[in-house]
Amino acid sequence: MARTILIASTNRHKVEEIEKIFIIPGIDFISLLKYKKIPEAIEDGKTFKDNALLKAKHYYHYTQMPVIADDSGLVVPALNGEPGIHSARYAGEQSAYDKNNALLLSRMKQFTGEQRFAFFVCVVVYFDGKNVIFSEGRAEGKIIDQLKGKGGFGYDPLFYYPAAGKTFAEMVSEEKNRVSHRSRALHGLNDKMRKSLG
Ligand code: IMP
Repeated sequence: MARTILIASTNRHKVEEIEKIFIIPGIDFISLLKYKKIPEAIEDGKTFKDNALLKAKHYYHYTQMPVIADDSGLVVPALNGEPGIHSARYAGEQSAYDKNNALLLSRMKQFTGEQRFAFFVCVVVYFDGKNVIFSEGRAEGKIIDQLKGKGGFGYDPLFYYPAAGKTFAEMVSEEKNRVSHRSRALHGLNDKMRKSLG
């Protein structure tokens, strides 16, 4: 039976990435780019998992369609997990990437060596009113002391990925997509969904 899954995102890149990774026979996708009238979910959970699930439930409520939702951010253990679930608004409501990066740089000044360890995390969830399937992906690296690279978005110019010897912002998108937290989480979800729903 053909099933349509709603991708709870208006970000074209995310939607395309999900469509590329998910190859489950009989499933196709539609995204929030086509459902502009639904009010946005309020992400007031305490964890990435809470936020991903509350988003999925919110859009399921409005559409009665199975939903894939995600939540992601940067975690710096030496800063007690900051910016964490507040990654998008680290320097304040509506804050731009450059302000968030400036704040992170200033908070990291006190740290050297291992204390500069950080990871990106992404939690994705599938929810269809009954089944809940979670998957988490991480990408580990360190925060450098100046911006490097022009690609990507968010904290990418400060996030050095040792296995590649460069920052996420110095990678072309295919390269980043092979190792990113988001792609790891999505591949994991794809595998779990193939097993339980496929
Ligand atoms: P969202 O969950 O995709 O909306 O991401 C929340 C925030 O986390 C973004 O606004 C960025 O600040 C940060 N973030 C998530 N993923 C990435 C990434 O791949 N690179 C850089 N920043 C990211």
